[in-house]
Amino acid sequence: MSREFTPDFNVKANNWIEEIHEGILGMRYRVRDVLFSGKSEYQSVDVVDTVGHGKMLFNDGLAMVSERDEFVYHEMISHVPLFVHPNPKKVLVIGGGDGGTAREVLRHSSVEKCVMVEIDEMVVNACKEHIPVTSSVFSNPKLDLKIEDGVKFVETTQEKFDVVIVDSTDPIGPAQPLFSKEFYGNVKKILNTDGIVVSQAESPYYNVVQQNSLMEILKSQYEIVQLYNFTNLTYPGGLWSFSFASNTLHPVNDYSESRVESSGLDFDYYNKELHKACFCLPSFQKKRNLTK
Ligand code: SAM
Repeated sequence: MSREFTPDFNVKANNWIEEIHEGILGMRYRVRDVLFSGKSEYQSVDVVDTVGHGKMLFNDGLAMVSERDEFVYHEMISHVPLFVHPNPKKVLVIGGGDGGTAREVLRHSSVEKCVMVEIDEMVVNACKEHIPVTSSVFSNPKLDLKIEDGVKFVETTQEKFDVVIVDSTDPIGPAQPLFSKEFYGNVKKILNTDGIVVSQAESPYYNVVQQNSLMEILKSQYEIVQLYNFTNLTYPGGLWSFSFASNTLHPVNDYSESRVESSGLDFDYYNKELHKACFCLPSFQKKRNLTK
């Protein structure tokens, strides 16, 4: 996959930051201030304060999180599997360095422990300092944060999990193996019998090849494989997808609205009806035979 980006944003000169997606689409945000700029062993990490979207995190020039709409992605990646699993106690988050996914996971009272494995400490530290809305979770005693490669972690850990959430960057650099058959084979080994794995599954418009490939991998290893969509402001094209895979649990047939009602949780995007609706795919996606 070819990927262009603008690692040296030069925002001071023109007060705009631009993400170039797949060499064909540019998205520009008006910048108020550059709060952090660094280069880690893995990627460039920038936090900027924008005029219209609040503080934003960019990894390798690609927008990861914006304060304005982070709730959409983080609620949808977490609450869908956590309301399908009958009693999620142990959850693993791979990636997710801003903390937003772990924050939503730990709102579920059944969850006793959330292990989060993020490869890049610079992302965690930059978010701790500048994006508290997501990173406040890092002081939660139920969170076990590990700075290491998620690929190696799933290969070697002896722990088992009820839900695994892959909150990764796009399939380039260290995130590339997170979209591989070997990785999902190892995830399967660390899931309990009623386990669920949900993953960031890219754009249904711009990343057809990657989305098809991820779903084929999942279909070859899990009994129930579905795709669900959400719309947001930050990821190119607006419409974006997550994959859902399990050997025993169907995301709609094994889900009950009453669980959401009795949780007492309040949401800004997710709700009990949307849980079912998000699995209804538009025809252009259905034609790709992505589900099982
Ligand atoms: N919601 C975001 C999106 O889809 O654009 C992703 C947010 S989160 C910042 C993604 C994180 O995955 C990054 O911080 C990156 O460092 C991390 N990551 C990439 N490859 C990884 C790996 N092999 N193991 C653990 N974390 C990884």
